[in-house]
Amino acid sequence: MRLLALCLWVSSSFAWAADPAPWAAFDVPLAGEADPIGSYANGCLVGGEAVPLVGRGYTVVRANRNRFYGHPELVSFIGDMGNRVADAKLGMMLVADIAMPRGGPFASGHQSHQTGLDADIWLPLAYSLKKVQQGGEGLLSVSLVDRKAFKVNHYWQSKHANLIRLAAEDERVARIFVHPAIKQALCIREWEDRSWLNRIRPWGGHDSHFHVRLHCPEGALDCTAQNPPPPGDGCGSELKAWWPKKPDPNAPPAKPRLPKPPKILPTQCQQMAVTP
Ligand SMILES: [Zn+2]
Repeated sequence: MRLLALCLWVSSSFAWAADPAPWAAFDVPLAGEADPIGSYANGCLVGGEAVPLVGRGYTVVRANRNRFYGHPELVSFIGDMGNRVADAKLGMMLVADIAMPRGGPFASGHQSHQTGLDADIWLPLAYSLKKVQQGGEGLLSVSLVDRKAFKVNHYWQSKHANLIRLAAEDERVARIFVHPAIKQALCIREWEDRSWLNRIRPWGGHDSHFHVRLHCPEGALDCTAQNPPPPGDGCGSELKAWWPKKPDPNAPPAKPRLPKPPKILPTQCQQMAVTP
């Protein structure tokens, strides 16, 4: 009997892990006091709020995807960033995917963005509001990295560096993910204060947008925080380790990677997925 119960639990857990469908089907947030549950890459969100699609200094792109919900702290972060971007006359900040109305795992496209504390921001800063509203799904972001040369390309400008700095200087921000070549472009600039560079983390992709991750808000007891980044500006060997290496013909064959076990959502999220 015990074995049967265990098998049922395991199979239902696998169903939770494998099926992100219910999360995309929710049109609106689950009402309640805002509560990010679980980790950035395995969780959900109670009391999410929609980011206003247009605000001073910013607009949401691809709103048809219905991924513009976040924890209230993220919503106010976006508004504050829009004001800073407008004050600095950087152009229009383009806010891309945040989270689905109840957070949770995506069928494709994102590993994290599950608790309403992650947001993607496009780097181009070049589209007008009219173009964004007309562009819909067809509007494309532009890469600022020459991937072959592994350095920023001719689209990269000071305004992009300043946009990322403005976000990283915000105390609510835990990490910002950018392509290693973008981190390098930030590292080699002269900055009066370099402390914010610690929060800029190199990561694959992230060449046409940067990903902002906020800390767990104060009092959010169900939110799983990440360890802080190592001390320093992260511009030395840690960054260099990302550069492509020439293949070594004498190197032993790489060991096959074992598949990762499926993630099991926190129980509160499992319950939320079946709450109408
Ligand atoms: Zn992202």
